[in-house]
Parts: sequence; structure tokens; C-alpha cells
Amino acid sequence: MNLNLISTIAFCLVCSFSSCQNTNNTNTTTPKTTTSTTMDTPIKKTDEEWKKQLTSEQYYVLREKGTERPFTSQYNNFFEAGTYVCAGCNTELFTSTQKFDGHCGWPSFDGELGGGERVKKIKDLSHGMVRTEIVCAKCNGHLGHIFDDGPTASGLRYCVNGLSLGFKKAEK
Ligand SMILES: [Zn+2]
Repeated sequence: MNLNLISTIAFCLVCSFSSCQNTNNTNTTTPKTTTSTTMDTPIKKTDEEWKKQLTSEQYYVLREKGTERPFTSQYNNFFEAGTYVCAGCNTELFTSTQKFDGHCGWPSFDGELGGGERVKKIKDLSHGMVRTEIVCAKCNGHLGHIFDDGPTASGLRYCVNGLSLGFKKAEK
């Protein structure tokens, strides 16, 4: 117990020393925008920080679990080759080969990247329905819902708000 405490304190001391050194050395406050896909360090930001980073529409969808109006997303009828990332934290969530035309007015995918740990599934009983909400596991941003009526082999339909997504074009 005591040993644990001591090592925790020592660890914190080391951390604060190294962060001090970093600020002294680099002398910038630009936040790092890495595309790391490690899910063990969730992003925690205040509502104010999210409001600064996101557009008001993105904030409404990602942070307030809103739904964009159907057929309004630039990614609805969009089938270029590339990777779809979370608009909140840049985590790679879907690829263009997982996208299909769901005719539902929102970007639809039949699978996700990363073996299940990047897209979190949560039971959603709102609006008198039983649905499964999907959120980004890294920043907890609302993506949309997942249904089991997909037309492809997976049988899954990830119905995603385009406002929750960014797109990285495949390099040729
Ligand atoms: Zn995210």
C-alpha cells in the first residue's frame, strides 16, 4: 500500500518535471493533433472546449446526440476511396469499402475499423424505441445508430451522421 503510494507520487513528480521541460523547450501551446488510434486514453474536454473546436451543427450532433436532417450530409451520396474519421478526435472509424447506399438519408456502413474497440455500442431507449446508439470510443462523440437490417454479408447497418465524420482521401 505504502509502496504503491510512493511509486505513484514518484511517477507524478517525474511527469510534472517532464511536462515542465516540454513547455520550456518547445515554448508553444499548440495542441498535438495526432491520429493515434489507441483507445486506452479517452479524450476529455469541457463543453466550452468542444464548442470552440466544433461547428454548432457538429456540437449538436456529437455532444448533444442530435440528428442531422436526412439527405443533407456531403457524405450521403459520396463514394470516394478513403477513410472516415471522427469529426471530434480524428480517430479512423470506417473505410470507403464499408460504405453502401442505405437510401435512408445518412451515410451508411456495414462494418467498422479496429475490431470493435473504436465504436462503442450503447442501448438507447429514447423516443419510444429500442435502438443501439454508436459513439466514438475515444471522445464519446455521438455518431448515430446501428441496426441489424444491413443488406450486405455482415447484416449490419451503421447509420451515421455525416456531421460526426471527417474524410481522408486515399493516397494514390
Ligand atoms: Zn472521436
